[in-house]
Amino acid sequence: GDNGLVEASDLPVEVRATSTTAEPDWSGEGRTTDGYRVKLLANVGSPDDARAATEAGAEGVGLFRTEFCYLSATEEPSEDEQRAAYAAVLAPFAGKPVVVRTLDAGADKPLPFLDTEAEPNPALGVRGIRLSHTLTGTLDRQLAAIAAAAADSGAEVSVMAPMVATVEEAGWFVERARAAGIARAGVMIEVPAAALTAREMFAAVDFVSLGTNDLAQYTFAADRQVGAVATLNDPWQPALLRLAALVGQAATEHGKPMGVCGEAAADPALACVLVGLGAASLSMNSAALARVGARIAAVSLDRCQTAAQAAAATADPVTARTAAKAALG
Ligand code: PEP
Ligand code: MG
Repeated sequence: GDNGLVEASDLPVEVRATSTTAEPDWSGEGRTTDGYRVKLLANVGSPDDARAATEAGAEGVGLFRTEFCYLSATEEPSEDEQRAAYAAVLAPFAGKPVVVRTLDAGADKPLPFLDTEAEPNPALGVRGIRLSHTLTGTLDRQLAAIAAAAADSGAEVSVMAPMVATVEEAGWFVERARAAGIARAGVMIEVPAAALTAREMFAAVDFVSLGTNDLAQYTFAADRQVGAVATLNDPWQPALLRLAALVGQAATEHGKPMGVCGEAAADPALACVLVGLGAASLSMNSAALARVGARIAAVSLDRCQTAAQAAAATADPVTARTAAKAALG
């Protein structure tokens, strides 16, 4: 590690598998040494992912990507087809929280059933909730299917909208979710404008979830699909951490939860930093749960907060990471 100690994450995979670490095992519930609860959730996008998530001990799902249901469809799937497809993913999570994200089409997620017009900059065009706004019927049918699948499965389902930029969009989405009979509705924070207005966002929604993949892309004007600009999309970038801090502060003021569901949550040290910035839950690839859970179980909330402040105060991602690791001990 950057503190001069060899860590499991620095070792080749074959060594890592057999090495012992000083970190305690993850008990199945995210918790710091001083008992602060952090829900450890999985990102899923298919029934197979859902099974892997339960096997990995996820406390629930922080991001259910629903695009799989539409991927090969040349016509919009019927409400009944959607209901069955969602229920198959929700089934293993009876009694557990699952955040279902409504259709996030466009840009890196083109879908054949939408014959949308070609755009010069798809990442900046009609995508995510903007598309739902023009295809309101499609959103309402999806919300109805989600509500029905939630009842079928017994999962504690909430919904969230992707690519929200304004408070008005957030309010519009929450209204439609409530009309569909879904009690809890939130938005992803993945556009800088949404992070900068987090205080007002929280007044309109029940929760938010940071999508660090897109939030990095839009903060740095760096396409997430272009390897040449990957350094700009490094989730340790202090500018990204400062935006997360703004949202975390607003969450505390409102007493409403901020989650994180981008790839950043899967990096154990960064996960601790995000907890220090105010994250109440972290959602990640199931494969990352055990390592992140063990790391969080080995630090106090106070250390997470110190590490978060230290990392956010730096001017580059390498220094941010070094500062955080030193503070985490
Ligand atoms: C994100 O943007 O960080 C995110 C979690 O959503 P997706 O990767 O599906 O765009
Ligand atoms: Mg996204």
